[in-house]
Amino acid sequence: MSEKYDVVVIGAGPAGYVAAIRAAQLGLSVACVEQWLDDKGKVRLGGTCLNVGCIPSKALLDSSYKFAEARDHLAVHGIAVKGAEIDVPAMLQRKEKIVEQLTGGIAGLFKHNGVTPVSGTGKVLSGARVEVTDKDGNVQVLDAGNVIIAAGSVPVEIPPAPIDDEYIIDSTGALELREVPARLGVIGAGVIGLELGSVWNRLGSEVVMLEALDEFLPMMDVQIAREAARIFKKQGLDIRLGTRVTGARVKKGAVEVSYTTANGDQTETFDRLIVAVGRKPRSQELFASDSGLTLDERGYIFVNDYCETEAPHIFAIGDVVRGPMLAHKGSEEGVMVAERIAGKPAQMNYDCIPSVIYTHPEVAAVGKTEQELKADGTPYKAGVFPFAASGRALASNDSDGMVKILAHADTDRILGCHVVGPSAADLVQQVVIAMEFGSSAEDIGLTVFGHPTLSEAVHEAALAVNGHAIHIANRKQRK
Ligand code: FAD
Ligand code: AMP
Repeated sequence: MSEKYDVVVIGAGPAGYVAAIRAAQLGLSVACVEQWLDDKGKVRLGGTCLNVGCIPSKALLDSSYKFAEARDHLAVHGIAVKGAEIDVPAMLQRKEKIVEQLTGGIAGLFKHNGVTPVSGTGKVLSGARVEVTDKDGNVQVLDAGNVIIAAGSVPVEIPPAPIDDEYIIDSTGALELREVPARLGVIGAGVIGLELGSVWNRLGSEVVMLEALDEFLPMMDVQIAREAARIFKKQGLDIRLGTRVTGARVKKGAVEVSYTTANGDQTETFDRLIVAVGRKPRSQELFASDSGLTLDERGYIFVNDYCETEAPHIFAIGDVVRGPMLAHKGSEEGVMVAERIAGKPAQMNYDCIPSVIYTHPEVAAVGKTEQELKADGTPYKAGVFPFAASGRALASNDSDGMVKILAHADTDRILGCHVVGPSAADLVQQVVIAMEFGSSAEDIGLTVFGHPTLSEAVHEAALAVNGHAIHIANRKQRK
């Protein structure tokens, strides 16, 4: 007899594990199927995010930032550091410890909430049943009242640069380099490429980023992207736009990369090459042909705004469906779906999802960019406040960048916020909350902000929207 659950979740990444926990909190019986195994052959929870994504990359970003601070930026404070050295294996060990702690934490939360972890690879069969094949080939079928697919994504591979896991590596390999490469090539100057490139640049690599597009960070507000490019260049990242990689081959312990630019074909040699050209949904071999599920033209499982697939009682969330590939987007979808299964009228606001690049300074955004507002003809006002005018940013010697707030010209409602600068992620989050409450720029302007804080830059940018900023000259002075 097959086991029966109210909900079977496939995948224990931030989308799946959150859905599983919320469903269990709501009194449903829940199993969560996960194929990831640790080195002892036991099921490993947490998905890409905890194991090879958000968390380990932030651990290395923080370690490398501290190292670069100690080596390069403390003299200005009167602190002399002689002979700062990086112990890469120790840095990796710290990262691994954090990953272990957090993945173990999810196991603890499953236990606490009564979610049953099931080790194996899940496949959706017709009638909302899930077939699970474990590592030894044993097959069981779980009977599910509802199925939530949260199978995530995998790195995109490109034929010109096949991954060999030694010289040509993907984001996972880039989190495990045991030595600092003297010359590091990165294909793709997107979010992941910039974060990983920054880690190794800070540790001493000469980093060259090869980006096919002519525009830097096209999804970001143009003004913010331009400022970010200026700052990254100053840090030593050699970002080459309009550079399409056409081949990569390993020769005498190095990688020879060929690429085309407007000036013709060129080659360059690196000690290691990171391929960071994006991720694709892991939607293959996930469901039987008669399960009723379909994929869209880009391989995502087709869902509506409520993450309902075309088959009754089958939902899909996270990276395996449309929308930004971000951990928190999948988690919120997980909560929404769990609540809807439990009969609650939950929905998700896709217009209010923050995104962050965790370089230093960070680049963060929510809502519309200025170019989007121009393109769709929305009348808008912009307020910008540079960190160079922030007392707190100057006090901490961290005053590159700016906060930009966009509001509707007629209603003053905030439509977007874009930040490059210290703690950009946390500053944008303040505006995410404001936007969720339908705030106007004036509302933020009327809020009291502690002094001296970086948050005051948000206050001043909101005031600047209506020409009322105090600590800069307003572009348009309004009464
Ligand atoms: P995943 O985390 O990919 O989890 C899917 C899980 O499903 C996996 O554990 C997989 O083993 C399992 N699975 C798949 N198929 C099956 C099957 N058939 N049966 C059983 N199990 C299955 N996002 C952010 O928001 N912030 C960041 O700072 C950030 N940094 C990142 C840094 C890097 C280097 C990378 C690679 C990604 C980063 N991301 C970040 C993206 C983030 O990791 C993903 O958006 C997020 O993990 C997606 O969550 P998910 O649950 O949809 O999928
Ligand atoms: P993201 O999706 O944010 O991770 O960014 C991936 C980046 O890789 C995109 O900006 C792509 O333009 C870039 N890219 C994809 N293929 C190539 C290639 N062959 N050469 C250089 N850049 C590429």
